[in-house]
Amino acid sequence: MDHYSREEWHKYVKNELGDADRKAYEDHLYICDHCLEVYLEAMEEEEHALPAMPREDEFTNLVMAQITVDKVKEPPVLNVAEEQKEAFAHGTWFERCFPIAFTCLLLIGGLVKMLEGTKSEAEKLEKD
Ligand SMILES: [Zn+2]
Repeated sequence: MDHYSREEWHKYVKNELGDADRKAYEDHLYICDHCLEVYLEAMEEEEHALPAMPREDEFTNLVMAQITVDKVKEPPVLNVAEEQKEAFAHGTWFERCFPIAFTCLLLIGGLVKMLEGTKSEAEKLEKD
């Protein structure tokens, strides 16, 4: 029985064979335990040689990191939302009262200046 070489099985694993060859290799696998073993070894070796494996790990790490970040982020986000609600309530209260208070201060300040002005004028008049 003719056996396929390890190199040939590597080609098979890497999909470097024509359809006819692939079929012949597959048929041989059904009847040859020796080549099945070589084929499985070749497949394992190619899997380790594939650069996609570390990338897959990286991707998994990335996904895991994303999940971890999301998990960590979630509670503070809720807290922030509530804080913002509170801040908004304070803000509306402050926003309502601030213009009134500011106007009052301006009026008082204006009145004080007016009174001071009239006072000094009155003093001037008194001196004259
Ligand atoms: Zn064989």
